[in-house]
Amino acid sequence: MVISEVSLKAGTELLRKLWAYAVYAQGTKNSEVSGFGEVDVNGHAVTVNDNFHMIKQQGGVVGTHLDMEALAHLIHHYTETSQNPKKLRFWFHTHPGNVYFSWTDDETIKKLTTWGLDPLVAGVFNEQGESRWAVVRHGQRVLEVDFKVPGESLSSEELERAKRVIDPILTVKPIAGRLWREDDDSSWLKSWGFKSRRR
Ligand SMILES: [Zn+2]
Repeated sequence: MVISEVSLKAGTELLRKLWAYAVYAQGTKNSEVSGFGEVDVNGHAVTVNDNFHMIKQQGGVVGTHLDMEALAHLIHHYTETSQNPKKLRFWFHTHPGNVYFSWTDDETIKKLTTWGLDPLVAGVFNEQGESRWAVVRHGQRVLEVDFKVPGESLSSEELERAKRVIDPILTVKPIAGRLWREDDDSSWLKSWGFKSRRR
C-alpha cells in the first residue's frame, strides 16, 4: 500500500468562484466549462493559488471540450508577460450531477501530464458545491480526494460575477451538433513550445 504524503490546499474564495462557474454554466447554459489555474509546489505541499483563468471554449453536454489551442495561448501570454507558465498546472472543469473523473477526463489528464504539466492538479465541480480532486505526479495519481466547498449557498453577487466571466468565453453548440465531437489536438501540438501562433 502506498500512503501519499502529498497535501493539497486551495483558498475558499477560489473554491466558491469555481462552484459559481459550475452553477452558472450547468444551470443556465446546460454546459460543462473548464479553466486553468496556478499551482505552487513545495515538496509534498501542493497549493492551488488564486490566479485562475477561464479560456475561450465551446461547451456542450457531452463532456468538456478542452481547447488546447486556447490553453497554448494562455501559456504564450504568460511567457510574454514574464509570468511563469509552468505554474499553470491546475485543470478545472464542471459536471452535472456526480463529481468523478470520466474516461475522457483521464485521457485529458494523461495528455496534459505527458505534455509537461506534471505535477498536475485536476478538480471537477458540480452545482451542489461538491468537488473531486486528483494530484498527478510523474504520471501517477498520488492523491484523490472529495471536498465540499465551504460556506453558505452562493450569493447573487457571486453568481453575477460568474456570469460576467463565463458569458464572453463560452459558446454553446446547439444540441444536434454536439453528439459527434472530435478532438483535434494537432494545432495544440504545433503551438506548444510557444512558437508565435496568433489568431
Ligand atoms: Zn469530466
